[in-house]
Amino acid sequence: MVIDTSGEAWRGDSAADLADYLEQYAAGGYHVDQTVSASCAACAGRNFRLRADPLEGGVERTCVGCGETHLMLDSADAWEDAEPHEIACSCTGEVFEVAVGFSLLASREVRWISVGVRCVADGVLGCCADWKIDYSPSRHLLELA
Ligand SMILES: [Zn+2]
Ligand SMILES: [Zn+2]
Repeated sequence: MVIDTSGEAWRGDSAADLADYLEQYAAGGYHVDQTVSASCAACAGRNFRLRADPLEGGVERTCVGCGETHLMLDSADAWEDAEPHEIACSCTGEVFEVAVGFSLLASREVRWISVGVRCVADGVLGCCADWKIDYSPSRHLLELA
């Protein structure tokens, strides 16, 4: 899978740009209210290889530093039926910084999730998967990026 770079590719110099990108990208037509950067629970690393199934709504990230694998957010629920594909940038880069954009309801429950990625090779920004959250409580998802 290649991130869509039709038209002008979005690029960013840092993980902070990824948050800006997610807010403007507004997946699903919903404004992103909060972003959380992904970091490895084992070594605090921030560079990952990714496998994603945008149809089922799931992303698995593997830390480049230590190899720890984490099914992001509620991806475990979808993973059984998922057909995950490795994520690659149009530059063939396969290592990304990752951040999750959360769209919240007035109740502060989560409405929509967007998984944003920044290719560490050339800085191109993209969204590898986004999906709807239709249950509550859902606030725990903010801890599971
Ligand atoms: Zn790690
Ligand atoms: Zn790239």
